Amino acid sequence: MSTDQEIVYLIVSIDTEEDGWGDYKPTGHHLTNIAHLPELQELFDSYKIKPTYLIDYPVAADETHRDFFKTVHDTGRAEIGAHLHPWNTPPFQEETTTRNSMLKNLPRDLQKKKITALTVLIERNLGISPTSFRAGRFCFDHQTVPILAELNYSVDSSVTPFVNWQKGYGGIDFRGYPYYPYRIGSQKEINAHQRDGTLWEVPVAIGFNRTPFKLCNSIYEFLSKDKLRPLRLRGIADKLGLLKKIWLCPELSEYKEMQQLSKVIIRLGIPVLNLMFHSTSLAPGLSPFVRTIKDRQTFFKNLELFFAWLHDNYNLKPVFLSEYCQIVTKPDDENDIGTLNAQTDITQ
Ligand SMILES: [Zn+2]
Repeated sequence: MSTDQEIVYLIVSIDTEEDGWGDYKPTGHHLTNIAHLPELQELFDSYKIKPTYLIDYPVAADETHRDFFKTVHDTGRAEIGAHLHPWNTPPFQEETTTRNSMLKNLPRDLQKKKITALTVLIERNLGISPTSFRAGRFCFDHQTVPILAELNYSVDSSVTPFVNWQKGYGGIDFRGYPYYPYRIGSQKEINAHQRDGTLWEVPVAIGFNRTPFKLCNSIYEFLSKDKLRPLRLRGIADKLGLLKKIWLCPELSEYKEMQQLSKVIIRLGIPVLNLMFHSTSLAPGLSPFVRTIKDRQTFFKNLELFFAWLHDNYNLKPVFLSEYCQIVTKPDDENDIGTLNAQTDITQ
């Protein structure tokens, strides 16, 4: 790897939350998965990866692991951001339903109370003012944006491009949203870059094994239609490597797939990769993705191989989520790193 190669920024953003996947109870959580974070941090440290732990209310309230979060933050090895599960963040004024598990389906006033409660708790218990945010179930809306800005957040990472969370969840249909960092602000549309937007949106890296993404998505959607489902065309296209939708996420993708997606994203001129996963995947049986000890070994191996490959092949700069936004925000400069080439692709 030579240093004159173009820089690739790597963000690793982790939804750091309680055990009990899919459980909407407001209190009384177990946090056994959090005890595995030091082991994960060791892996990050050995590859100089700079993780962003987006912690939710039960994690911020817990005393047991407070020292870990403070230490990794104070030593500059991790960023602590915020992750909001509406069902376990007070006040509890809404009915407990799947629909209400989506932040955007709550009134603005209640959204504000919950985001404020989480932010204040992190500040009080850890002495850290979070500036990075991700909504639980990847769900926020235009009402959330000014609330985050008011509370000094500089970046949101709730957008999962090419994924539709509407059906069955009442969430957001992210098909057609940008898959590169962009800014959002006062306008109602959060699916397009706003030049005067004060909040950066850094989507999770999701795309296809080929370009242009927009066309790939149209074909993928066509193959996913109910009437074509019996033909299993989407599965066949995936197996043959003709068309694969890939998440930069070791819960859903193997190392080779993450490598494939990264190459395509970098080739598109997007210099940042935002890898995500859930802390519950660190303990077998706590997330739907890592069920056994062997799964867990594979999960760690996939991460390690991926980090090693990036280091060996690119001028890799691991960054915290909010740090990336400082890099791309330069005064007197409409410096939208990653947007121009990608916009070319999206209009093809
Ligand atoms: Zn979550």
